[in-house]
Amino acid sequence: MQTKFKLSLLIGALICPMALTAAGMEPWQKAEVTEVWEPTPEVVTLDKNNIPSDATVLFDGTSLNQWQSAKEGEAKWLLKDGAMTVVAGTGDIKTKETFCDAQLHVEWRMPTQITNEKGELLTGQGRNNSGVFFQQRYEIQILDSYNNKTYANGQAGAVYKQHIPLVNATKAPGEWQSYDIIFTAPVFDASGKLKSKAKMTALHNGVLVQNNVEIQGVTEWIGAPTYSAHGCDSIRLQDHGNPVSFRNIWLRKL
Ligand code: MG
Repeated sequence: MQTKFKLSLLIGALICPMALTAAGMEPWQKAEVTEVWEPTPEVVTLDKNNIPSDATVLFDGTSLNQWQSAKEGEAKWLLKDGAMTVVAGTGDIKTKETFCDAQLHVEWRMPTQITNEKGELLTGQGRNNSGVFFQQRYEIQILDSYNNKTYANGQAGAVYKQHIPLVNATKAPGEWQSYDIIFTAPVFDASGKLKSKAKMTALHNGVLVQNNVEIQGVTEWIGAPTYSAHGCDSIRLQDHGNPVSFRNIWLRKL
């Protein structure tokens, strides 16, 4: 409560106890009753690339220092022209740091090549597949879904095999695209029992594709998803055998 208002209430109460009733209040006094002044939100500024000052920069185009192979050793993806690109067969990469609740920004680009070495059109899940896994378990799909039909819960913007994106906001191959994702981690009790499921809100190129959906468990290609207890974990990017590129990756811990 503002000091000025406290004082006016005190003086009012001394002079006339009725001044404490809402009926006796001036409109500005009534308005002040519902004002909340604390806590004051922390100031966040944006740099020239619109990266918030409280973000952890995971990839700025200059090195793979924040990343390692999801199996072991160094991340072996190609670093070139301010982007990193999947080198087929080198495997998924993951952040060295681990995260729980987070806001993630990631930009990705599909290769313009949409045919294989025999000249056959790549289709469905085979057309430039990758993915962003939160806590190494929960995937939002990356796929070239520009004029490329596949199962709807497996296209770009899908929580893979769990939630169909609200719309298909995919840009043409060769154009940079973005995901802005708010991820709420699942919570487990001390015995490992699930207390609350993970949740995800996602914007694809600024367009809402997942609106606070509940994740049903660890992403599975085959079968129903289930949960098993775990702690904070890495962001993992998928090597699905296609040269998908990434740039400008940052994360805010929530
Ligand atoms: Mg994938």
